[in-house]
Amino acid sequence: MRFTFTPEQEAFRLDVRDFLEAEIQAGVFSTRCADLVQPGNREFSLKMAERGWIGLTWPREYGGQGRTYVEKYILMEELFRVQAPLGYHFAGDRQVGPALIHFGSDWQKEHFLPRIVRADEGTVFCLLFSEPEAGSDLAGITTKALKDGDYYVINGQKVWTSGAHQADHGWLLARTDLAPESNRYLSCSEFIVDMKTPGITIRPIVNMVGEHSFNEVFFDDVKIHRNYLVGRENQGFKQIMAQVDYERAGLERLMQNYPLFVQLKEYVQTLDKADGGAEYPTWARDQVAQLEIEYQIGRLLCYKTAWMIDQGATVSSQAAMCKAFCTQYEQRLNDAASRIVGPLSLIRRGSSWAPMRGDLAECLLYQPSYTIQGGSVEVLKNIIALRGLGLSR
Ligand SMILES: Cc1cc2nc3c(=O)[nH]c(=O)nc-3n(C[C@H](O)[C@H](O)[C@H](O)COP(=O)(O)OP(=O)(O)OC[C@H]3O[C@@H](n4cnc5c(N)ncnc54)[C@H](O)[C@@H]3O)c2cc1C
Repeated sequence: MRFTFTPEQEAFRLDVRDFLEAEIQAGVFSTRCADLVQPGNREFSLKMAERGWIGLTWPREYGGQGRTYVEKYILMEELFRVQAPLGYHFAGDRQVGPALIHFGSDWQKEHFLPRIVRADEGTVFCLLFSEPEAGSDLAGITTKALKDGDYYVINGQKVWTSGAHQADHGWLLARTDLAPESNRYLSCSEFIVDMKTPGITIRPIVNMVGEHSFNEVFFDDVKIHRNYLVGRENQGFKQIMAQVDYERAGLERLMQNYPLFVQLKEYVQTLDKADGGAEYPTWARDQVAQLEIEYQIGRLLCYKTAWMIDQGATVSSQAAMCKAFCTQYEQRLNDAASRIVGPLSLIRRGSSWAPMRGDLAECLLYQPSYTIQGGSVEVLKNIIALRGLGLSR
């Protein structure tokens, strides 16, 4: 096993780093952290598109670069190191594209993939899976899609839909087989839905930070043409289970609060100097060292997953391990930072008293969600136990 990157991979990393440094110097964005992805900026996504950095791993015939997942993770590591504004293309690049490559029709691939890769207008996606009574157990959704000629008619409600209010399209899971005796795992289908379609109502949910990042989405007799059914009818649950591996395995689960870790290390060094080293809080040093160990473990878990995807391996259990470990590490980072900094941790951005530019207070408010969104830790452990270790249900 090799734990080093090739010279080409290192050169790629430097390329990305130089680009991002120039963007920061030019004032295009500044580094802050808390939410999973920083809000979208199409201008920035267009620059990434020009460099071929959207759809990096996708086949060339769809505008991708055919490069490896290890390279993709190098790119993501550099982007998340500085919290680049990826919101415009993030869902299309990470999830929708790979799902279409696996399950989409020829028309869907030809229509959507090159547009996502170019960061064209109209390529912001949101994910319409969770419902008020179905989150971990997606097979329990009740949103219906009834066939009516060339159309499906959708009725129901989704919830926690991140970015629905900014999205052009939604990736929707709905029930297509309503027979009471049907197998709940073989009765849902996936669709792409234009979020401007009549009958869709989006209602904001303001989170603990005070930001409008997710929503409730209501469907009242929304018509979707059958061309927008993705994959096979009633196979949506199986398809989604393959897709969520991409959502779970990424370095973003480790690095959502990376700038906080950098600032925490600097903060502890400042304490050290302020106290002349004599009253140095050794427990704080111990905490930071522990976090460094965990960060490096998380990084290796993620890169191993990337390498496994490149080998064509099934990564469900490995991806679940990444997300379970990395999101809990990020919560421990917040916990340690707040104990080291003390009560000032709670002061919000905008006050001159806010430590770490206010990142700490915001991360503290966001962090309970890290182990819930994209699959809770308990559910991920079930996957590791069942699919990874072969334990019984
Ligand atoms: C910030 C954020 C953004 C989100 N964005 C989106 C989005 O864009 N699109 C979308 O569709 N959804 C989104 N979600 C929803 C998210 O996917 C769900 O919250 C998540 O899947 C959990 O579902 P739930 O909230 O219904 O909780 P439940 O499934 O009701 O779980 C409640 C508790 O029970 C535990 N539990 C459930 N089942 C089991 C089990 N079998 N074994 C052991 N324990 C179990 C869970 O771990 C949890 O602690 C988002 C959530 C958050 C927090």
